[in-house]
Amino acid sequence: MYPDIILRLPEWLAGELQSPAQRFSTLEERMAFVIRLAERNIQEGTGGPFGAAVFTQETGELIAPGVNIVVASHCSLAHAEAVAIMLAQQICGTFDLSADFLPPLELVTSAQPCIQCYGNIWWSGLQRLIVGASKADVEALTGFQEGPVPENWVETLEHRPPLPPIRVIQNVLREEACAVLRAYAENGGLVYNPDVM
Ligand SMILES: [Zn+2]
Repeated sequence: MYPDIILRLPEWLAGELQSPAQRFSTLEERMAFVIRLAERNIQEGTGGPFGAAVFTQETGELIAPGVNIVVASHCSLAHAEAVAIMLAQQICGTFDLSADFLPPLELVTSAQPCIQCYGNIWWSGLQRLIVGASKADVEALTGFQEGPVPENWVETLEHRPPLPPIRVIQNVLREEACAVLRAYAENGGLVYNPDVM
């Protein structure tokens, strides 16, 4: 028998959810929430300095949070964005977050998606992406590599017929997002790129 594939979320994450239908009306409030997840993930020692969450685009209702749990999960796929997407899909009961019975959903992430998360977002059904720190910020401040994300990644997401566009908004609370990355690196946080540990 092969083992089932189970990704266990950090226990503290449940404490960040004050109610099932918590609302964050502005993009800055949504970004502040995911930056706090990234910060808490460091403090609790549960993973890397990245947080993300799926929200309803119009009303800012929190659907699913995510944090980086790569090391603890023995899983290089378990980036914050991927965890939030997987959890949202389980909660919504569909692989397609653009399903007819769902409102438009967005992903808010403390840092620009890496090559893997870029692909995950592409296939997720999410309709908007909100980004804090940039790829250059992540790589310069921490040493984490983001992989060969296309130079024109924004326009590629925003124009991809026959699939619907994924709108991108960048630099939301970028300084605050960078501060978490900087603090992680300054405190000797593990940078777990393969082969360069
Ligand atoms: Zn990623």
